[in-house]
Formats: sequence, structure tokens, C-alpha cells
Amino acid sequence: MTKYSPRTHSRFLNTAALVLTLSFSTVAPAFATQQYQPGAGTQTYNPTTAPLFDAPIDSGGVAADLETGEVIPEKQVSRSDLGYNHYDGIRYTNGDYTLKLIASPQIEQLRPSIAAAVTDFNKTGTVNITIANETIPAKPRPAIRGEIYMEVSTVSICEGSSWAGCGGPLIINEDGVGKAVAGQTWIHPMVLNFTSNQRQHVIAHELGHALSLLHYDKKFAGKYQLMHSSSYDSTVLAAGDLAGVNYLEHPKPFGNFEEALGGTGTFTVRGWALDGLNNGAISVQIMIDDAYRTTTQANAYRPDVESFYRRGGNHGFSATVVSPPGEHRICLYAKHNKTTMSTQLACRYVKVR
Ligand SMILES: [Zn+2]
Repeated sequence: MTKYSPRTHSRFLNTAALVLTLSFSTVAPAFATQQYQPGAGTQTYNPTTAPLFDAPIDSGGVAADLETGEVIPEKQVSRSDLGYNHYDGIRYTNGDYTLKLIASPQIEQLRPSIAAAVTDFNKTGTVNITIANETIPAKPRPAIRGEIYMEVSTVSICEGSSWAGCGGPLIINEDGVGKAVAGQTWIHPMVLNFTSNQRQHVIAHELGHALSLLHYDKKFAGKYQLMHSSSYDSTVLAAGDLAGVNYLEHPKPFGNFEEALGGTGTFTVRGWALDGLNNGAISVQIMIDDAYRTTTQANAYRPDVESFYRRGGNHGFSATVVSPPGEHRICLYAKHNKTTMSTQLACRYVKVR
């Protein structure tokens, strides 16, 4: 596993601010004793000097097993040509996520910053994160596919005690590839005393880890990335971050257009379709002679699909569509529910009487 010891960030140790401790600009009695002290030094994580943090936000993304929660040692792949680093062997991200806030001190105060960070990620088109309205009492174990957890806590799986946030993906291994199908994040209570921009930055950075991005500590296209371990130019995803999110692609929907039967004034199409990762029912778009006609849901029971893919049984479709007589070319597209992603299943010809 690549270590991100705060000690390696020598430029922070060389600052004149060696003896500063965290200073609070607002009264925060609950956390007044919290100090941010990376490594052995006494650096500062100074929330008042935006836009540059003086110390690493965390020790780096920490991947864990979806089922057991145990930390998974991972190697880093560097894409300095594109401005991001990611875990070796982890390619896919769930795409659709529900961000579940765990009942923890003042988590609700972070909601506006969480919403702002999520909005930025959702602009990528690769991930779509919905924030659950209700908090949950605790993180489920095993974790649930498609969920990212966030809590305010002084305890996390990141190295040491010197972090403002912590995050990483929850991984399953399927078909020889690691899939980041869930994630977990921790926000240190000190963040509640940061400016709203800094709060958003830490939250977005940890969401980046949850999606399995790692630190990228060089400038790319002249800017610090969101995934820089300490510094930032902006609270939103930069070019390298975007490339990283887009690398972590959501596998496309797939399925089978099994048959098209011509009738009198109608035709019927049958088959099944599955999302690339999620188990929920997806849509199938029906095109007639290259023109969109209608959409049907692939939500009918198909025990054969269930026994093969083990993704729940309700993924079949059968739709009867009104059509003028004659021979027509019918094409079907399996469509991801929330993104524009779709996959052409096949095209078939029918004769309508
Ligand atoms: Zn980090």
C-alpha cells in the first residue's frame, strides 16, 4: 500500500508556522481541545488562511473490503499525464450512489457543504450521488452496494491522528477486477470550524477517495487538484480530478434482445436488460426505423437471468407496441436510469400485418 505519511510533505515542515496549532475563529466548546498535529511536527491546519491548507488533509485514500470492512492494501497507479492517481486494479465505480449520513455530532451542520460537493460530482455524468434525507444510526456491515457513508468522528481508518477527513472505497472483486461499489468517509469535528469553502473542499476530497481516487500532489494544467493532499485552488473538481472520475467508469448496461414478433397492427419485443453494476430495474428504449417510439421497463421476473447473474430476478421485458403495417427495423437500447449511458442491445426486423 502506498503510504502518504505527512512526514514526507517536507515543504510543510519547512514553513515558519511550525509551532502554530489549530486556531478557531468561532467558539466551539465541544471541539476546543482538538488539535491537528500531523506527524511528529507541530504543523498547522489553519482554517483561516484559505485557499491553501498548511498540512495534509489525510494520509491518503484507504480502500476496504465491502463485506468485512478490512483495509485492502493497494498499489497506486500514477497518471501524471492526466492529473490523477488511482488504485491499481480498481476500475469500476458504482455510478449511482446514495450518500448516507451517520448520526454523529453536528453532521447536519455539514449538509449544505455536502450538498455543494455532491452537486459538483454529479456534474461529471459518471457518478450520480443522492443524499439521503434521514441519518442512519450506524454503518451497516457488510456495507451495501451503492452507498457511501459519512460521519463526523475523531476516529477513522486513516493513519495516525493527524487528519481532517478520511475516506476510501469499499471494494468487491468480481471477474478479476476490483469494483468500488460503495464508500466510507469520516469528517473530523475540526472541519465544523472551517470556512464553508474549506468544509466543502474536505468533504469533496474525501468523496474523491470514496470513489477510489488517490492523492495527486503535483499541479496539473496549472492548478492544484481536489485530490491534492493539502493544497487547493478551488473547491470544485479540476481537470485531473475529472479525468480520474471518468476513468472510474460505470460499466454500461447490457442484456439481450431475444425476439421480435410481428402481429396485426402491433409487434412484441422480448428480452432482458441489466445495469452494469446496480441491481435495480432499468429502462429499455424501443426504436422503430431509427425513430424513438417508447420506453419499457425491464422489471419482469426472469429466473434464468437471476440464476446466471445473481442480480435479482426482475430484469426481463416484454412489450407490445402499436405499429403501421409493413416491415420495420426495431432497435432496443438498455438505458441506465440516471445517466445518459445506454447500450444498443440489437436490431431485429419484424413484419407487421
Ligand atoms: Zn486525501
